Amino acid sequence: NSVFSHVVRAPEDPILGVTVAYNKDPSPVKLNLGVGAYRTDEGKPLVLNVVRKAEQQLVNDRSRVKEYLPITGLADFNKLSAKLIFGADSPAIQENRVTTVQCLSGTGSLRVGAEFLARHYHQRTIYIPQPTWGNHPKVFTLAGLSVKTYRYYDPATRGLNFQGLLEDIGSAPSGAIVLLHACAHNPTGVDPTLQQWENIRKLMRSKGLLPFFDSAYQGFASGSLDSDAKPVRMFVADGGELLVAQSYAKNMGLYGERVGALSIVCRNADVAGRVESQLKLVIRPMYSNPPIHGASIVAFILKDRNLYNEWTIELKAMADRIISMRRQLFDALRARGTPGDWSHIIKQIGMFTFTGLNSAQVAFMTKEYHIYMTSDGRISMAGLSSKTVPHLADAIHAAVT
Ligand code: PMP
Repeated sequence: NSVFSHVVRAPEDPILGVTVAYNKDPSPVKLNLGVGAYRTDEGKPLVLNVVRKAEQQLVNDRSRVKEYLPITGLADFNKLSAKLIFGADSPAIQENRVTTVQCLSGTGSLRVGAEFLARHYHQRTIYIPQPTWGNHPKVFTLAGLSVKTYRYYDPATRGLNFQGLLEDIGSAPSGAIVLLHACAHNPTGVDPTLQQWENIRKLMRSKGLLPFFDSAYQGFASGSLDSDAKPVRMFVADGGELLVAQSYAKNMGLYGERVGALSIVCRNADVAGRVESQLKLVIRPMYSNPPIHGASIVAFILKDRNLYNEWTIELKAMADRIISMRRQLFDALRARGTPGDWSHIIKQIGMFTFTGLNSAQVAFMTKEYHIYMTSDGRISMAGLSSKTVPHLADAIHAAVT
């Protein structure tokens, strides 16, 4: 008899479980719109050309060894990552008051940041948007923070509930941490305008709230790395402190390589140094030090002017394909005379459309059309192609009529 016989089976992850169900479906027309991973118009995963080139050169370089990285990761990678999110001319970087540590993609960066805050920050409450990426509450709770939500999405307009957001953040206790999606909010695809960001910034700074940015889609929303980083840079420009978790999963297509970075912008260089020393104490007992391969690819690309430029072009092409899928789906629904206002499909931004379909309609589409998505009606535009748009439009039409 097993000493584990009392262990009950856990449910599948609500997001990754969609793919598990998809894989079991033998239908030739099945469509997986649950995954947050980019696909080509042929429905294939994409390895960027610049990534192939960088890998080739890294492999050919016989001087490269497999030694451990420092606890904080690859130094070049950290510097270049900070530059990417904060901007090449960021005063915070010049003043040496940013500490950046390489972490296991976006998730690992969030977790390390949260563990640090739980140990060293005076306010252990973090406010996350309602709704948000399903992993956020779990990451923060397990790190030892207490999770509360702020209103974000208005189902009536399928847009931002800006008034609700201001009210909820405005009534948060002084010093509370606020999780902000830097761009391309997941799952809603709804972002504040720059003017609204400015209002959020003023309110948060006036109340001494601590911003924790989750930047999982830099470059993926607008196609421009700089535009998508603007909200973060607004908060850095006022001289205040903040955290940013960066992921290279989407914008460099390095999903499984698990490359990301946590940056903490501090008031001065002395504080930043001490903060970094404590981040090492968080990381060392968790996984000792991060893996070398993915970070080497990123550093190689960010360092080389030509590769960097090539990357921005490939990134823009991915963003543009997603935007074109929005248009195609919108047009297909209009052509079918599908009841309802579907303009949110072209207004929302980033990888996902929050369709407004309810869980019963989602279940119907899965059962009758073999279309897989999360039960909140979120579809990955990146998983869609010109060929599959009509099938999806038929399914949505049937689900709402
Ligand atoms: N934050 C958000 C909002 C995300 O959508 C994701 C990926 N789905 C992540 C963080 C983390 O992804 P990863 O750990 O793969 O970088």
